[in-house]
Amino acid sequence: MNAYTFRIAQPETRRIEVELSVEARGASELDVRLPVWTPGSYLVREHQRHVDGLNARGDDGRELPVEKVDKSTWRVTVSGARTVRIAYRLHCFELTVRTNHVDATHAFLNPSAAAIFVVGREREPCSVRLQMPESWRAWVALPFSDGLYAAQDYDELADSPFELGTEGSHTSHTFTAQGVPHELVVWGRGDFDPRRVIPDIIKIIDAEAAIFGGLPYGDSYLFILHLNDKGRGGLEHRRSCALLVPRFSFVQKSPYEDFLLLVAHEYFHLWNVKRLRPAAFTPYDWTRENHTRLLWAMEGLTSTYEVMALRRAGLVTPQRFLEIWAERCTQLLRTPGRLRMSLSQASFDAWIKHYRPDESTQNTTVSYYLKGSVVGFLLDLELRRRSGGARSLDDLVRVLFEKHRHPPGLPEDGVEKAAIELLGGETGLHEWFQRALHSTHELQLDEALAAVGLRAVQQPAKNADDKGGAAEEAPDPSAQPRGWLGTTVREKSGALEITAVAEGSPAQLIGIAAGDEVAALDGFRTELKQRLNRAQPGQTVRLSLFRMDELLEVAVQLAPAPRDTVTFVSEAKASPEQLASRERWLGAAWPARQ
Ligand SMILES: [Zn+2]
Repeated sequence: MNAYTFRIAQPETRRIEVELSVEARGASELDVRLPVWTPGSYLVREHQRHVDGLNARGDDGRELPVEKVDKSTWRVTVSGARTVRIAYRLHCFELTVRTNHVDATHAFLNPSAAAIFVVGREREPCSVRLQMPESWRAWVALPFSDGLYAAQDYDELADSPFELGTEGSHTSHTFTAQGVPHELVVWGRGDFDPRRVIPDIIKIIDAEAAIFGGLPYGDSYLFILHLNDKGRGGLEHRRSCALLVPRFSFVQKSPYEDFLLLVAHEYFHLWNVKRLRPAAFTPYDWTRENHTRLLWAMEGLTSTYEVMALRRAGLVTPQRFLEIWAERCTQLLRTPGRLRMSLSQASFDAWIKHYRPDESTQNTTVSYYLKGSVVGFLLDLELRRRSGGARSLDDLVRVLFEKHRHPPGLPEDGVEKAAIELLGGETGLHEWFQRALHSTHELQLDEALAAVGLRAVQQPAKNADDKGGAAEEAPDPSAQPRGWLGTTVREKSGALEITAVAEGSPAQLIGIAAGDEVAALDGFRTELKQRLNRAQPGQTVRLSLFRMDELLEVAVQLAPAPRDTVTFVSEAKASPEQLASRERWLGAAWPARQ
């Protein structure tokens, strides 16, 4: 038994003490290790950075020699002791879903970032004793008896975050969904309203359970929700999830839609990645990057289903559903890196690309969340089209779950194989997968959209806020494009700071780069952004900009805005079969019947 104690004596110091007690079993040395990463978040974070004063003692209290042998491993010389107690302090000051955070009101502990393990004993049961202030209580998805939380092995412990704290700084809400008890615990204040949120979460649970014919657990599930000033994130676990959103996410339409998408996303991971997981993760290697080309399927398809679940739960209209997809297609067309890196390669390089973005990211890589979700959206339509409406993405994820949910897990080509099998061995799909996953060619939207009598019109953005959308009729093709500089900016004390420059844009060709601050346009600093947005193609604008504190003048001729904005429109010649497929797909007629 690996017996842990998490001791929170002075939470205001932002740290805890961790102790692990193990039997030596005659070993002369024990290697103990803390993972360098947290599953679900594909970055080597080196959690060891937050450990200090690691020491070991034998049963008689005698201190045992400890030597650090690599960045994540300590070697304890047992010196004949029968049991060994290893203790250390852990600094907990990073409020994200995959790290540890402690203050006077709560502690959020991710065991993958907090609890060391003895190398070679990962498969053995673990227990956790909590020592914390008297007024505190605990929320964690592990069974509890005789003062101990039990995990069947280190994997399960690592996958079970602890939320601890006073009742006063948390609100807890219990409810039943699919006949199973669920709990939502909220830390932090804001405009959270359980009367609105809980019924919507139940609808999401029902919509996703319907795909797989029920829930993959039978006893209970825990949502841990943190409200904070700016961050957003989620992390999936087998019996719980951690969600982090801005405090005021629950009243206004757009932040609330974002929150619901996050819930639907993390919940879908219960099936996809927490049970159906790449063979490359079986078992996890805790010492280094775990490469797979399947993150597009794990994160991308999950991002497809976050939108599908909201539609099926009735939480977005058919109009909004189509808008979300048109917006994602638009976002993809505004990512020049889609032509540089394939989806499978972007999955593989997540560790050094997606999780470590910089000013060149949009030009050199593509998000496997974004492109993966669009590929999932198109794959659903392709399966419907090629099977005459008999098959859909639901069938594919269900088959994958049934077939690969147990070790050794999903092989790298498993999704394609299962899709081809689903269509009775149709080989045409192979080329489709090659193009979508392994090439940098543009995705073919219209071919898939034809399944439901839609087409995608690509036009220049109408204005700076135009993110794409869905309309009954095609937008005016004669509309003049606006002038385009090709920069992404953020406002910074009256100036515009360049954060990224698009590949091949006028800005890039003239040498404008991230970090430059535009202070004036044609000699004036008034309404900088608005005037730049109103400028015409072919017009030459004079930018006064600071680069490393030096004032420079740059004249740049604007290009016509690229045709990077997608509007889904109804195909005028759509057949009755296509219209019927569309209605089945959307769960309602679109456009709504008069
Ligand atoms: Zn995810």
